[in-house]
Amino acid sequence: KQSWLTRLKNGLSKTSNNLTSLFVGAKIDDDLYEELESALLMSDAGMEATLYLLDELKKQVKQQKLTDSEQVKTALKNIFIELLAPLERSLELGRHQPMVMMIAGVNGAGKTTTIGKLAKHLQAHHQSVLLAAGDTFRAAAREQLTVWGERNNVTVISQESGDPAAVAFDSVNSAIAKGINVVMVDTAGRLPSQLHLMEELKKIKRVVTKSMEGAPHQVILVIDGNTGQNALAQVKAFDDALGLTGLVITKLDGTAKGGILAAIAKTRPIPVYFIGVGEKIEDLQPFNAREFVEALLG
Ligand code: GDP
Repeated sequence: KQSWLTRLKNGLSKTSNNLTSLFVGAKIDDDLYEELESALLMSDAGMEATLYLLDELKKQVKQQKLTDSEQVKTALKNIFIELLAPLERSLELGRHQPMVMMIAGVNGAGKTTTIGKLAKHLQAHHQSVLLAAGDTFRAAAREQLTVWGERNNVTVISQESGDPAAVAFDSVNSAIAKGINVVMVDTAGRLPSQLHLMEELKKIKRVVTKSMEGAPHQVILVIDGNTGQNALAQVKAFDDALGLTGLVITKLDGTAKGGILAAIAKTRPIPVYFIGVGEKIEDLQPFNAREFVEALLG
């Protein structure tokens, strides 16, 4: 059985090969920088982060008079780690009773899977969990969450064709009454229009605040690591509408290019609490900048 780190490395291997092969026996010249720029752009790092990484690298090469391509690669690795380090943050538990988390993301991003994995993670940290089936738009989402809850002894509050904000409101009240530690509110990923979706999510957030002052304590966006630069557009849109407190990036075991984390760090540095590296419960791992960059730049 593969370790999650191996799956992460495999997932990022294409980008990793593109980047690391550039340095093998390379001369440190403009050609190398140009190829590096292309490889970074191809990895979804985006223009801003790419130019930043190149500028910093050139500076260090000059200052430290680096001539060996392996040393230059190491320098890039360290610059990359420093860029991603601010995204590293652990989910703080026990500060609110209950802690209310709103989980958003477009359909297919891995939202339901992540909620299940997160619930397990929280239980392992001695937190009782209640789930609110706030995606009332898609019956399948509600069922998926309910089945998952039954299998794992987690209460799921669900209403057939109910108002998602009402489900969230009831869930928070129920958690308060039962002394539950964490409420996770699942939300819809798609409605007839994007504008609709944002309005519904904002409404859920307002109503959650009414049910408990200071809530939601976490507003988390789940994004598919394979969506490329569009992931950044999602982060911006959801952050503008809801004020995100954290991200979960899924499917980094697939064919993700990985550079999207650099783009996020440079343009919307929102903490990445976890990364998804597979479909199983244990495949949700806290984000660690060094581990990630090691997987990317070996
Ligand atoms: P939702 O529509 O956002 O709720 O997405 P789902 O949770 O239903 O996930 C969509 C698909 O992605 C499912 O087949 C999941 O098993 C899969 N998935 C979710 N997270 C990961 C991950 O980290 N790695 C892999 N390989 N698959 C994942």
